[in-house]
Amino acid sequence: KAKQIAIYGKGGIGKSTTTSNLSAALSKLGYKVMQFGCDPKSDSTNTLRDGTYIPTVLDTLREKNQVNAHDVIFKGFNGIYCVEAGGPSPGVGCAGRGIITAVELFKQQRIFEELDLDYVIYDVLGDVVCGGFAVPIREGIAEHVFTVSSADFMALYAANNLFKGIQKYSNSGGALLGGVIANSINQPYSKEIIDDFVEVTKTQVVEYIPRSVTVTQCELQGKTTIEAAPDSAQAKVYTSLAEKISNHTNSKTPAPLGVQELRDWASKWGKYLLALQTGEIRNELAP
Ligand code: ADP
Ligand code: SF4
Ligand code: MG
Repeated sequence: KAKQIAIYGKGGIGKSTTTSNLSAALSKLGYKVMQFGCDPKSDSTNTLRDGTYIPTVLDTLREKNQVNAHDVIFKGFNGIYCVEAGGPSPGVGCAGRGIITAVELFKQQRIFEELDLDYVIYDVLGDVVCGGFAVPIREGIAEHVFTVSSADFMALYAANNLFKGIQKYSNSGGALLGGVIANSINQPYSKEIIDDFVEVTKTQVVEYIPRSVTVTQCELQGKTTIEAAPDSAQAKVYTSLAEKISNHTNSKTPAPLGVQELRDWASKWGKYLLALQTGEIRNELAP
């Protein structure tokens, strides 16, 4: 049975980049992978297909009454199956209908069995906009959730909100948290901040991914780093992430912070970093 993984995170944080490189790395390790874009932006699988866009499940359903699952599954790099759930028409909500509809269609047509997949990876927008985004967690679609976050406050805020969602459904068969994929780690103290965040929220960092110009160069060519720069240091990091996720078995219920608690936690870091910069304190232990 395929391992079902959902990758969440704030918009623009690097979910699709990380997910596509993870899919590419897993497929290079010999696994059969489907990447399922669940962001209304519908560009999740773009770098797995030389920068081309694919029709979404919702758009295809709007055009035809009868949809064969194979009409919305497209092959990408190294045979990875690419799907984009799609989103509502602008101004019209969908409460996660894109994801539910696509997964229902695949279940009815027994696609997950037919394709004999090892991994289905859902790339889900994790800003808490509406209940729709909790669908993969709530509906038992995913088993393990990972979140991509940088050390920026808004990214951690989104991660913390996701933790609240996971906690809420953890007693009713919802997906549990595998950990945080720390992205764009390039500033001094980014690592320390994220390490402290996972400690207070009782989770873990799965991998630290540096901000790298290699990613930019490959993305501009419409490709993942794994495809376009397979021997780069960054490709090794994505391969290491893939190995860790393939060995991961035990997800847990996180301990999200309250809104004010998160603010206070962040302020403590802000004061410390500022004091360090102005030379008020030196070689001080981090808070
Ligand atoms: P999301 O899917 O979360 O909205 P994307 O994956 O589309 O975000 O990433 C947003 C931008 O950030 C992209 O241009 C991407 O190339 C860049 N990016 C993400 N992660 C990295 C990284 N580790 N190094 C360099 N650029 C990155
Ligand atoms: Fe649908 Fe809600 Fe996402 Fe909008 S925010 S696309 S309504 S799930
Ligand atoms: Mg994306």
